[in-house]
Amino acid sequence: MELERRLQILFTLEDGLGIETVVIPCKGGRTTVCVSSQVGCAMNCQFCYTGRMGLRRHLTAAEIVEQAVFARRLLSSEVGSITNVVFMGMGEPLHNIENVIKAADIMVDEHGLHFSPRKVTVSTSGLVPQLKRFLHESNCALAVSLNATTDEVRNWIMPINRKYNLGVLLETLREELRFKHNYKVLFEYVMLAGVNDSIEDARKLIDLVQGIPCKINLISFNAHSGSEFRPTSEEKMMEFRNVLAEAGCVVFLRLSRGDDKMAACGQLGKPGDIQPPRLRAPPRFQMAL
Ligand code: SF4
Repeated sequence: MELERRLQILFTLEDGLGIETVVIPCKGGRTTVCVSSQVGCAMNCQFCYTGRMGLRRHLTAAEIVEQAVFARRLLSSEVGSITNVVFMGMGEPLHNIENVIKAADIMVDEHGLHFSPRKVTVSTSGLVPQLKRFLHESNCALAVSLNATTDEVRNWIMPINRKYNLGVLLETLREELRFKHNYKVLFEYVMLAGVNDSIEDARKLIDLVQGIPCKINLISFNAHSGSEFRPTSEEKMMEFRNVLAEAGCVVFLRLSRGDDKMAACGQLGKPGDIQPPRLRAPPRFQMAL
């Protein structure tokens, strides 16, 4: 028997704070657990629901590993087992790099959860020094949330870009991946209508990732309450995908399945009364929202 839809697990931590973990059934018998690495997140990505919480605290390595252990136990008796782990729940994993590397080590250790390092993916919004350290110290897979093809847009929707811009981020990957054998980074690209989804963006993306061994994942945006962003239409996403594929990029398309709302990948958590500031859209995008 296979799991038919996403399963959201809520944990209450010892100090009373809450985190969320999501178990996601995928095609081909894969089942992925999406773990949180922090309570909330400090990165304030403008399209992200979790980002509105601000950062409450880092999770310990034990609290991270426990999410995968619990999900594995929960499923093993009923619907097969967990095959993949992604650090794409609440938090910016590389902001909590000590505990994330420890947790990932335990997940791949033969005396731990014994996943293949290729099946454990740590995601980042682009903390460049920590990203370098991760590539040096871990063999687990890396995903980078790119989500824009210009600094103008990325500075707006992902403020971390003001510190480590697209040029610095991509040049670091280009340089570091030369020393990793058989290793591809996964670029995540959440598609936002009128913001980052034009054919011109697709062409710029092809140029940006030149020379970086990579795969690109185009993700449908799930609008949440209070969000000024809208999802790109499926038709437009396919056009965008086709431009990338015709240029030889390895590209996947993750369309919304209707049950995605408020589950995983920047959609978790509960914003408090005091929220990080909303950033002003550059003038030429104000009409698009
Ligand atoms: S997208 Fe990720 S890094 Fe950005 S605010 Fe949300 S949880 Fe943090």
